[in-house]
Amino acid sequence: MAVPDWSDGYDWYDAYDRYDLLLIWSALCAIIRSMPSRRSAAAPSRSVERAIVVDGRTIRVRRKAIKNLYLRVQPADMSIVVSAPWHMSLGTVAAFAREHRDWIEQQEQKLRDRGSADRPQWTDRLKAQAAAALEAQLPDLLAHWESTIGRSPSHITLRAMTSRWGSCTPRTARIRLNLQLGMMDRRLLEYVLVHEMTHLWVPGHGPEFRRHMDRYLPQWRTLRMELNRQPVWRG
Ligand SMILES: [Zn+2]
Repeated sequence: MAVPDWSDGYDWYDAYDRYDLLLIWSALCAIIRSMPSRRSAAAPSRSVERAIVVDGRTIRVRRKAIKNLYLRVQPADMSIVVSAPWHMSLGTVAAFAREHRDWIEQQEQKLRDRGSADRPQWTDRLKAQAAAALEAQLPDLLAHWESTIGRSPSHITLRAMTSRWGSCTPRTARIRLNLQLGMMDRRLLEYVLVHEMTHLWVPGHGPEFRRHMDRYLPQWRTLRMELNRQPVWRG
């Protein structure tokens, strides 16, 4: 089996976006390891991980049967991983990570940019559009749910928020709704409204809250899951 020769291991990562290559590389390694060969019987594949801190950054060091050091920033959780040969000292690994600090920071920035580029961004026009959509839907929804739930909010405020879909202050009966709900399916808006109006009876999210929700909107768990899959728009 042909395996890419990266014996000049220090240079490969300077090229652009090598995650794919890394994935191919680790897939190849997995295939080779799983092959019932004499080599794998003689040297069973093992990988041991420990963390070290270099200049305030946590580096995950994975020991493997390799000859060179490999560095990557994992897109999934932005963790920094160095794969290192079994007997290389941690001091050498730390020096390697320190030497490539600029590269690590570049990768982190790239991943952050990529993460936020996927999220839609608010404009004044979109905000007006979302507010209009909410104002058009809320009267009917409120009329229906006030009679079902038996409580009414004193005010409903609409705001673009990045940390929550809605909130309720039971003491003042004030409800805030995320403007983004105006750009979503009406069912999701309805779920958030019912959730917040339920807080007019029950403050927390305990068993009593869930009992109310089960009664009002039996499919609320599915709606919650769907809602939490929506990307949050950038302000
Ligand atoms: Zn709540």
